[in-house]
Amino acid sequence: MSDARAMMEAAFARLSARDGYVDRPNQRQLAWLVSDCLDEAASGAFEAPTGLGKSLAALIPAIAHAIATGKRTVVATYTNVLAEQYWRKDLPLALSLFDLDEPPTVAFLIGRQRYACLAEMEQADFPWFPAYRSRAEMGLESEFRAMRLLPGGEATGVWRRVAAPPICPRRLCPHYAACYYYKARREAEKATVVITNHSVVMQDAMLKKVTDGEQTMLGEYDALIVDEAHDFAQAATNSLEFELSDSRLGILLGLAARIDGAIAPLAARTPDRRRWDMAYGELRRDIERVRRDVTALATVPSGILAASPDDIAESPPIKRSRSEAPRALIERLTEDAADSINDFVRKVGETLADWRETDALPASQIREATEAMNAYGAYLREFAIGCREIFRPEGVAVSYVGHPTSGPIVRRDVVDLREPLTDLLWSKTPGVVFLSATLAVDGAFDFFVKQTGARAHFTEVLETPFDYASQCAVYLSPAGRIPDPSVARKENREDAYYEALASEIEMILEAMEGRSLVLFHSRREMEETFRRISPHRDYPVYLQRSTGVASVGERFREVVPSSLFAVRSFWTGFDAPGETLSCVVLVRVPFEVPVDPPQVARQAWLQSLGESPFATHTLPQAKMMMRQGAGRLIRRAEDRGVLALLDPRLRTKGYGEEILANLPRGMRTFADVYDAMAWVGLEPSLIGDA
Ligand code: SF4
Repeated sequence: MSDARAMMEAAFARLSARDGYVDRPNQRQLAWLVSDCLDEAASGAFEAPTGLGKSLAALIPAIAHAIATGKRTVVATYTNVLAEQYWRKDLPLALSLFDLDEPPTVAFLIGRQRYACLAEMEQADFPWFPAYRSRAEMGLESEFRAMRLLPGGEATGVWRRVAAPPICPRRLCPHYAACYYYKARREAEKATVVITNHSVVMQDAMLKKVTDGEQTMLGEYDALIVDEAHDFAQAATNSLEFELSDSRLGILLGLAARIDGAIAPLAARTPDRRRWDMAYGELRRDIERVRRDVTALATVPSGILAASPDDIAESPPIKRSRSEAPRALIERLTEDAADSINDFVRKVGETLADWRETDALPASQIREATEAMNAYGAYLREFAIGCREIFRPEGVAVSYVGHPTSGPIVRRDVVDLREPLTDLLWSKTPGVVFLSATLAVDGAFDFFVKQTGARAHFTEVLETPFDYASQCAVYLSPAGRIPDPSVARKENREDAYYEALASEIEMILEAMEGRSLVLFHSRREMEETFRRISPHRDYPVYLQRSTGVASVGERFREVVPSSLFAVRSFWTGFDAPGETLSCVVLVRVPFEVPVDPPQVARQAWLQSLGESPFATHTLPQAKMMMRQGAGRLIRRAEDRGVLALLDPRLRTKGYGEEILANLPRGMRTFADVYDAMAWVGLEPSLIGDA
């Protein structure tokens, strides 16, 4: 047995001896599978259902291999909250299971805007700054909020002012040595076990690529464990996008101002002052003009500007979704932005080179200004490339005008992630382990592999530790009670659909005495239903609004008889164990409707490959989401509850059976919600005694 395996055996023996620990053979099995991947530098995709203890099953082999072989492992999960849970709860427990004569070095790194900037705090001269500095362990936003130095609403606004900026002077900042973020980065570059999130993994890979490996966030690592792997495609899409918007152009101007701050005082002591002022002034004017042009797109409907490859660009779905925006205007503004930025970078380079040659200024000051430019230069050059790629997208990609709530944008999204992810990650990292409670569709990992291009030498779907047959029952809304939502939309009878939905949900909430999480497909569907529900004195219903997602979730957990109406972000990752969540209502099968440009482009691309977009993307994705939504219900061995499925198509369409077959096995189905409740021991009068 290898040293690492012997250490894992000993760690599990110590874990078994802990008070209250319930031995879970599947947890050990998963740890061994992860260990095999680390041993053999192989990749694996493993479905580890809720309650199995997958965090420990990931960390125990990572730590054992770090101690035995010095191999570096990066463990990445989707959200910052989950990453902090790994760092504060799971990692200390896992470390305590080892005989630590030589403990491995560990580090934690998340996105920079989650760290406080000492320079910003000092400049703003906040009275609570000293208290925060002396008490914050890592300088994180979560610590800032937990200290309650300011009331909730005010805290949000203040955090935006003091968070680390997207780009900063780095080594030239007087606080660099103590900077929370850069300290975390220095540690993450060297530690043998690093806890982070998906987005940092992507940023690190992209930084290595654009700097030819000269700059890095996570250093070179031997293995990557991706937890919550079902969300990795979304994180990768977000990292690979490029966007021209008011806020991004504002960041660019802020960056230019910082460069001016480093160079202008030096230029003032040379004959180049006027030349420098002109260069900086031109960039400001050009970018301000582009900013105005982008803002003026507010009146132009969303639509596609360009798509690649060529055969999808000319396909009927893309042509139908073409933007009505004046193409010449957007082409001009993207070209202007790129030219202006490149010009500015060139002029800064020339100015610094002239100064170096003529000894016009002390060498140390020129060196400092050069360093500042190096810190910002990569960002500026990448921005210019992004502007040009709007009309020349590469790979399978789409550019479009969009209208998120923040205002108009011109954006380019990657549609097929396989090639970029292989280039950035899979070809560079010998062993990648993908973990999730819901990663398989129809018992296989083909959909995930197709979405991401990930390799999976080993795959396994592990058994759930829960007894779904006794803990959970399905209520399938009887035929005829709710209209088919797609027919209702086509026939313009959506009002009748919302009325029927509201009355069915009211009946369920009454039966369950609240305690329900009601998951909708769209915000409109949620709001239309919500306004048709009569308020109940004893069972409040909360609504997920566009802000305050965390606090509404918290309120729902705390107020046991409450219910929560929610959309996308609550389908996955939301954890509310116990009585407060005794029923999950899945209002409809969440089929993606290809209206947004990236969805239209995906449809066109799949058609160009001769595939059916519904069979190869829409249906598998809906199956996975239904599994995720249903997964909110049973979080602990003591939980019991009802899964209410309201979409009539589950009974009437051929795919209904397939979707139901993807839900946890063994659950009994009822056409009466009270029967379903009785099956799991949740008669109304007994709920409070559960
Ligand atoms: S190095 Fe950057 S993030 Fe850190 S304190 Fe200075 S300006 Fe803020």
